[in-house]
Amino acid sequence: MKDTYNFVAKEMKDVEVLVGTKGILDWDQGVTMPEGAVNTRAEQMALIEGIMHNKLVSPKLGEAIKELDEHRSKLTDDERVNIREWLRDHERAVKLPQDFVEECAKHTTQAQQVWVEARKESNFGKFEPALKKMIELKKRQAEYIGYKDNPYDALLDEFEPYMTVKELDPIINNLRDGLVPIVSKIGNSKVKVDSKILEKNYPEKGQEEICKELMKLIGLSDRHTRLDRSPHPFCSGAGPEDVRITTRYSETWLPGSIYGVMHESGHALYELNFDKKYYWTPLAKAVSLGIHESQSRLWENYVGRGLPFTKYLFPKLKKLFKTQLENIGINDFYRSINCVKPSLIRVEADEVTYNLHIIIRYEIEKALINGEIKVRELPNVWNEKMKKYLGVKPANDAEGVLQDIHWSIGAIGYFPTYLLGNLYSAQWWNKMKGEINDFDALIEKGDCEKMRSWLIENIHREGRRYSASDLVKHVTGEPLNAKYFLDYLKDKFGEIYNEKL
Ligand code: ZN
Repeated sequence: MKDTYNFVAKEMKDVEVLVGTKGILDWDQGVTMPEGAVNTRAEQMALIEGIMHNKLVSPKLGEAIKELDEHRSKLTDDERVNIREWLRDHERAVKLPQDFVEECAKHTTQAQQVWVEARKESNFGKFEPALKKMIELKKRQAEYIGYKDNPYDALLDEFEPYMTVKELDPIINNLRDGLVPIVSKIGNSKVKVDSKILEKNYPEKGQEEICKELMKLIGLSDRHTRLDRSPHPFCSGAGPEDVRITTRYSETWLPGSIYGVMHESGHALYELNFDKKYYWTPLAKAVSLGIHESQSRLWENYVGRGLPFTKYLFPKLKKLFKTQLENIGINDFYRSINCVKPSLIRVEADEVTYNLHIIIRYEIEKALINGEIKVRELPNVWNEKMKKYLGVKPANDAEGVLQDIHWSIGAIGYFPTYLLGNLYSAQWWNKMKGEINDFDALIEKGDCEKMRSWLIENIHREGRRYSASDLVKHVTGEPLNAKYFLDYLKDKFGEIYNEKL
């Protein structure tokens, strides 16, 4: 039994090492690679993908995993978790026929190109046939993978393992019904907040200095991480001891780099704090994209955009940007970084309206996969939902249904993980505040040690021991729900807008 386990562990370690190698190539492509090398890079990526896939679908590996699974009672708890996850990885890989995987890869490259052009021309009709084919492929994928209640489950499961529509729907409906009135009350509030003071000229040098300080404060060391620039910020790396983040600096938008770096640092902290004894196994892997996002959102919004931390950060910014922030008080600054404004573009949305953007995409994706709406109806459906939930209407497809890359690359089932991240983080935040004495006072001093230890101990060190839903129950004693997130918004923004939300 031991030999079989060691064989599987070695094969799966190889797969993880390859994932990390791809991570470094990804990082290189986003940060330093000369533009003209794109085809060479595509060859390298395809080769690594192929090796990974062959390893994962190997019948010898499959038999070994199944044998271990059948003798589960002879395994330790840790080994059982790893076997459960390895079996899942193996089965997902073998369920998709090779020619189907190739067809998907080919169509994704084409669909993405068509999407870029369609968005440029703001012409949904141009993207429609490619999206139609993508939806057909995704429906087939769901059939290959299999599901119990809803074909969408099979797609969601890729990004948020074990999550289902049945569990998610009531939570999302509660969230939506709670959010819509909050947005409208804030819109009608007499208190007007804007973010003009953040749009002055803030030189890059000062931004970079504070960003590096924030990374340290969150708990990242130069020994295992680095900060670089890229057009689209991300977190990537080679594995547990090499996790890198990027950001972009806009001199006329101060919060972009600051809160962006806090966000990516939250992702990196998670990846860097798995238990060393489990490296290269599922016990040293992130639970899901939603749990990952809960780590980044905690640092970006709950800490970063909160009042206690702003009391720590603002004096530092005043020193760095003397003239820009002259005569500006902490309250003005705090309000400006928390301005709520229903907008058309998801990536620019504030904490309150953000999830409504996600809900719109979730409802549409689910309806498409279940054949309840047709691809050609999308612009209308999209615009109606924007009007109904956010009170705004896109003037054209580019700022409406064509704004996100996800559907063009086949990432259907991905959007809900952004929303789940916000809900999980509200539940962590509530629990953590109850368990750490003088929490706000510590944050006000820029002392995040206790918070970091809490996250490492309760979340990072568990790896994939629990599914996301079980982790929430295990850590907070309650199932996933929207209550804590809604309460957090009502408190914070009720005070800023002087409204009972
Ligand atoms: Zn993120």
